Amino acid sequence: YKAKSTHSGHHVYRSVDNRHGDARLRTLQELRLALTEDQLILHYQPKINLKNGSVSGVEALVRWQHPERGLLFPDQFLTLVEEAGLMHALTQEVLRKALDQSVLWAAQGRTLTVAVNLSASSLIDGDLPERVGTMLSARDLPATVLMLEITEDFLMADRDRARDILTRLRASGIKISVDDFGTGYSSLAYLRDLPIDELKLDQSFVFPMADDARAAALVASTIDLAHGLGLKMVAEGVENGVSYDELVRYGCDFAQGYFMSRPIPAAALDDWLTARLNAAALP
Ligand code: C2E
Ligand code: MG
Ligand code: MG
Ligand code: MG
Repeated sequence: YKAKSTHSGHHVYRSVDNRHGDARLRTLQELRLALTEDQLILHYQPKINLKNGSVSGVEALVRWQHPERGLLFPDQFLTLVEEAGLMHALTQEVLRKALDQSVLWAAQGRTLTVAVNLSASSLIDGDLPERVGTMLSARDLPATVLMLEITEDFLMADRDRARDILTRLRASGIKISVDDFGTGYSSLAYLRDLPIDELKLDQSFVFPMADDARAAALVASTIDLAHGLGLKMVAEGVENGVSYDELVRYGCDFAQGYFMSRPIPAAALDDWLTARLNAAALP
């Protein structure tokens, strides 16, 4: 494909545009390959129950093991996936992999819930509850192993649809978490209205709490707000022991963060879990 170029004055810009266009096209082809050639992998970050220190579950986070560019992170390719209309395929792939991993954990006697992130475009799909149900039953997994993380933009985009889809998912036993809580444009009213289980406080509120009393006060009040509405609170981005201890004091239910573990491959998680259990067993 060659763009028609007539004005010589635009020549430089057009050739720059073309270069970008070629790169884009190549990336799109690579993205399709990523899906067909099994280059997408999941890393798992543990989620700690702050009441007793146990590991309640993990969050699955997608990475692209690119044949030349190495390990790519979501911010390097998710926008493209969305633009290429491949988000639906990615979501299916991530769900499949996360649930396959759940089967392995169940066989090892590990009781872990797995949380999968859903883009607004994946959730808006009315067949999602049924498809997820089929994937669970094909693996003999109870719906309670799965948690879906959604964002406020989905909740606000089409409230009636959101309510319908969430209600159906939740009726089957799947738990719903509102990710990046506090950063969206939503109104607080949806917290009262919509069928959700958990709020996941965005890391931008958690990062400053260790050395900023007002930031800490905001976190503490948000935890109370969640509890007042019968919701669980998860803090993400816990990077140090000071924040961890404060969250425990404020009654936060769960936490994730580099302080406990980065997202890691399933095999590394297995070692991490074993080491943690052994440490807990020490007198
Ligand atoms: P998220 O769901 O809010 O995930 C949290 C992000 O923060 C992850 O980045 C995680 O690695 C990172 N993180 C966790 N603990 C800490 C910490 O203590 N400090 C800092 N600085 N960062 C921490 P990641 O894996 O790069 O994912 C970025 C975003 O990409 C996710 O944000 C999620 O919105 C999206 N994403 C990831 N996987 C998927 C997926 O399978 N499907 C969809 N639709 N989106 C995904
Ligand atoms: Mg998430
Ligand atoms: Mg988040
Ligand atoms: Mg995020």
